[in-house]
Amino acid sequence: MITRTDSPRQIPDWQNQLANAIRSVEELLRFVSLTSRDTSDLLRDCDDFPVRVPYAYARRIQSGQADDPLLLQVLPLMQESLSVPGYSLDPVADTDQMPVPGLLHKYHGRVLLTLTGACAIHCRYCFRRHYPYAEANPCGPSWQASLDYISEHNDIEEVILSGGDPLTLSDQRLTSISQELSAIPHLKRLRLHTRLPVVIPDRINAQLTSWLRDCRLQTIVVLHVNHANELDETTRIAFERLRGATDALLNQSVLLKGVNDQVETLACLSQRLFEQGVLPYYLHCLDPVAGGAHFDLPYQRIDDLWKQLQALLPGYLLPRLVREIAGKPSKLPYNTINQA
Ligand SMILES: *Cc1c(COP(=O)(O)O)cnc(C)c1O
Ligand code: SF4
Repeated sequence: MITRTDSPRQIPDWQNQLANAIRSVEELLRFVSLTSRDTSDLLRDCDDFPVRVPYAYARRIQSGQADDPLLLQVLPLMQESLSVPGYSLDPVADTDQMPVPGLLHKYHGRVLLTLTGACAIHCRYCFRRHYPYAEANPCGPSWQASLDYISEHNDIEEVILSGGDPLTLSDQRLTSISQELSAIPHLKRLRLHTRLPVVIPDRINAQLTSWLRDCRLQTIVVLHVNHANELDETTRIAFERLRGATDALLNQSVLLKGVNDQVETLACLSQRLFEQGVLPYYLHCLDPVAGGAHFDLPYQRIDDLWKQLQALLPGYLLPRLVREIAGKPSKLPYNTINQA
């Protein structure tokens, strides 16, 4: 908790916003003027993945709208506690492809580091909500082993900083991590998978952009936006700063029942992203994570949606609709789902 005695000059504003996020169902419902909503279908006891919503994001939830698409991403429903066959703790078998704790090497030429378990927001459908971050932290004692692994594999050209959310780390930490990575001669690109520029747009401050600009490696930032209502003037400013500092600004979304499972919603998302200088990259079919089944859609519905979207948008606004199948050498086109 940040107290009044802390000097505001020492704590960047975004860290205050992170520390002062909404942390309970009651506070969330009060903030969005839904105190009279029936709460019998809400989950109270979710200490392993509690409610977390920064005010900067909560302000984009429409007041008094129980089915608001942003609210649905963060409100814990009782359905999360149901055990549904086929929905598991490690849906994409992350922990099978971890040669060093916290370093995932699934695909050719790139490795992913789960740098931290911390996130600015807790998305109820998150496929890493049960990920063993404490044991799988590459920044602890295994950091040197991670650097060694990357150094020894000449074919690795790209490192993806992920989590959790890598932008919950301080700019000093990020700078020192990227300096060590930059010293590995065969590395060419550094990619960030982050939702922070959307959730707390003030995270994109001068220190962060100068870090990205000064990095020896080419940088790619992949955002995570699921609905056009997440985009406003604050994100426009943050993305503009990012665009001035990175080589590519992309977005990945998750297809979510009740949130963005209408063709108009998906088309509008692509258009609004492009207006803010972001290209759609992936639209992920939900990974079958325990607690997320109520966000999933039947294959036929996904197929219909996709065909309509394809007929509506120019190719460059169409994200690749993909699905991750454990053990496959890449994310796969959605229409391989049936055969999986
Ligand atoms: C999704 C993912 C990547 C990135 O895949 P791209 O197709 O390059 O975006 C890399 N490593 C792991 C472990 C992943 O899950
Ligand atoms: S920001 Fe990403 S990693 Fe964090 S809870 Fe949301 S989906 Fe999961």
